[in-house]
Amino acid sequence: MEKVHSIEVEQTTSSRLAQVDFENLKFGHILSDHMLVAEYNNGAWQSVKVVPYGNIVMSPSSSFIHYGQSIFEGIKAYKQENGDVSIFRPDQNHERFNKSAARLEMPTVPAEIFMDGLKTLIDLDRDWVPPTKDASLYIRPFMFGTEAALGVHPSASYTFMIITSPVGSYYNKPLRLKVETHYTRAANGGVGFSKNAGNYALSLHPTKLAQEEGFDQLIWTDAEEHAYVEEAGTANLLFRIGDTLITPSSETILRGITRLSIMAIAEKWGLKTESRKVSVQELIDGIENGSVTEAFAAGTAATLTPIAEIGYQGKIYKLSDPATREFSNKVLQYLNDLRYGRIEDEFGWNLVVD
Ligand SMILES: *Cc1c(COP(=O)(O)O)cnc(C)c1O
Repeated sequence: MEKVHSIEVEQTTSSRLAQVDFENLKFGHILSDHMLVAEYNNGAWQSVKVVPYGNIVMSPSSSFIHYGQSIFEGIKAYKQENGDVSIFRPDQNHERFNKSAARLEMPTVPAEIFMDGLKTLIDLDRDWVPPTKDASLYIRPFMFGTEAALGVHPSASYTFMIITSPVGSYYNKPLRLKVETHYTRAANGGVGFSKNAGNYALSLHPTKLAQEEGFDQLIWTDAEEHAYVEEAGTANLLFRIGDTLITPSSETILRGITRLSIMAIAEKWGLKTESRKVSVQELIDGIENGSVTEAFAAGTAATLTPIAEIGYQGKIYKLSDPATREFSNKVLQYLNDLRYGRIEDEFGWNLVVD
């Protein structure tokens, strides 16, 4: 039986809120006043606290630094039109977090800590949710192994934390993506579906090489043949091919909640949807013969960002003018209206913090 305590709250005596310029937010640079910290030891969660944001002290032999037991989530809270603060589908992030934890042999985090902690923290820092257009409070839950020992084994102790950061939009222009055919992000049987720190570490070098060629990001392909489209590193990919909305699906692809939501909206609107393998050839042929009418990246940080160009084997394939894309523009508007409380929440996706 896990031992879960009530959440202790220690409020800051020197809020930094007055110094924040909500009109000019660089992604992830400003951290809100408070953070949540929970400690796991001796097979149980021992304490849960909300404290002023600040540095943490740890042993240089903390296991996650050496062996990478480190997972995270990304969630957003929105300031709604009526002044309410609402978190978008955090139950889905909680579920995915615990799947990541299980794959990395880490303890799961119960709802009393993840969900109740989230609500307590966001309630306390509700004035940090930006009131400005297209802005939101980015929420970063994460957990890492803290046992001070250099042997390779699952850590005996863990810290779970939540920090938050007011953000504007992540990408502000349509994307140029390069199809990666040498490096691999994730292989079958690996950890591609989990949101763990290592998946990002290995992506940085190949992404930097593509950026030196003028691309914004990569389109990862499958590890075996580099023949199937996977995802864009921090966001999932969706394509409108003919009258169908298609997203690549496999165990090596992160199961994005933004993508899941967009597919659900498309279905409700009567558009055909498919989650399946998409070959690079199908995509390239579709761009050339005009059947790929829309292409975009979808994720919590990136929201929905149109793809303008795709680079493959030294050639650039241009897509339609993003301004003319019917579904992408309509679904982005709808998602924003729903999150900012301008329309009815017909799916029940907003968790209002009261
Ligand atoms: C977080 C993430 C996404 C997007 O998932 P959302 O739940 O929509 O935010 C896509 N790909 C990767 C690799 C990610 O880490």
